[in-house]
Amino acid sequence: MLSSAWRSVSNSVENQLTAAYFRVQKLRKVGLRGMHSTLEDVKLAGMDIKILPALQDNYMYLIVDQKTREAAVVDPVDPELVIKTVQEEQVTLNKVLTTHHHWDHAGGNEKLVKLWAQALDVYGGDDRIGALNHKVKQDDTFSIGSLNVKCLSTPCHTTGHICYHVTTADGSGGEGAVFTGDTLFQGGCGRFFEGTPEEMYEALCTKLSALPDSTKVFCGHEYTLQNMSFARHVEPDNAVIQERIEWAKHRRASQDPTVPSTIGEEKSWNPFMRVHETTVQKHAGGADDPILTMFKLRKEKDTFRA
Ligand SMILES: [Zn+2]
Repeated sequence: MLSSAWRSVSNSVENQLTAAYFRVQKLRKVGLRGMHSTLEDVKLAGMDIKILPALQDNYMYLIVDQKTREAAVVDPVDPELVIKTVQEEQVTLNKVLTTHHHWDHAGGNEKLVKLWAQALDVYGGDDRIGALNHKVKQDDTFSIGSLNVKCLSTPCHTTGHICYHVTTADGSGGEGAVFTGDTLFQGGCGRFFEGTPEEMYEALCTKLSALPDSTKVFCGHEYTLQNMSFARHVEPDNAVIQERIEWAKHRRASQDPTVPSTIGEEKSWNPFMRVHETTVQKHAGGADDPILTMFKLRKEKDTFRA
């Protein structure tokens, strides 16, 4: 009796110590730089994706080919953190994948190229991107070690926006990953700064929707809670939205990133990928027109406060 009571006390002390230990670890991971999220490592078949937080809510990503340890970085706006991570991981960085020219994505390119001793291939679809030396367009392909990269042109947020679809070379196994910048966010999409609802429809509902449902989606910002709150407003009876909100709240309480999601999941909860659904069309007042629904949803979201 006594011993079991003691055991439970000692367990609870141990739990507290463990919790404290993890808090310290987390603090160390989040660091003194005031990062918005913890650094996380996502292991997929054939590739490791390192999630690197930057600025207020941006994500950079280091893509590492498991076979060759060659690496590429997506939107390296904070070159120092990229270099530190590359050195710690002992990988060979030789490519930069830029989703679009906005400074919070492309603003670190010039500096990274300057700081990095080896030559870097800098990819992107827009002449406004700093240090660009490989301009790409729809269906262009290149490799990261043994990984294949295919470019998807998704103009709308900006005219030169590119999403990068990364798969293992033989295509045999694995879910693959897509880096969607400010085109597709978890539960939302980017503002239509330089494009039309038709173009965002083409990007989300034709090109990105055509990727396998298991494809992991790594987007440019940690906007999940704000986006999912709008998604719930659009489809209050969609249970997967509420479940994802609970999950995301839990993750954000300890500053864990909510990326990645999958293409299949986005189709189930992202209103901008669901403009064919009667529920979404009804809410938007877009009759049965998916493009008009896209237009109206974006307009509503532009001023929506959770
Ligand atoms: Zn942007």
